[in-house]
Amino acid sequence: MRCPHCESENTKVIDTTHDSKGGIRRRRECEDCEQRFSTYERAILSTPMIIKRDDMREEFNREKLIRGIRIACAKRPVPAAEIERLAGEVESKLQKMSKLEIPSRVIGDLVINGLRDLDKIAYIRYAIVYLPLNNMNDILDEINRLLITEGE
Ligand SMILES: [Zn+2]
Repeated sequence: MRCPHCESENTKVIDTTHDSKGGIRRRRECEDCEQRFSTYERAILSTPMIIKRDDMREEFNREKLIRGIRIACAKRPVPAAEIERLAGEVESKLQKMSKLEIPSRVIGDLVINGLRDLDKIAYIRYAIVYLPLNNMNDILDEINRLLITEGE
């Protein structure tokens, strides 16, 4: 790191602190002019690639995710802002996993957990497609499970 005062490259780190946003602040001192200065480094989070069920890879697509959630929430009293929030939450959880690739079911699990809190009908719709619930008994079982947890 070059000294901003005298441009010397002989600088040393005298203190390092991590902040809550994942940034790193370093206090540095120039060994030539003895001036002190700080630098701030911020890691840029990237979203992992998605491994689809057929093993093909695709880029994470936030719009596509929102579309899927919206379809499950059609004609339900779920505010658009909540759908955006859920999609944003899913994306930031993916980023925090710090992986290069993740299976698409990880996204499905995150969405389904979010929908369960948001709207039970939307949750069931999503579950039918995603889990997938293939017959009426599976769907009934899932609904019963929801009714039981609701009664608690
Ligand atoms: Zn200097």
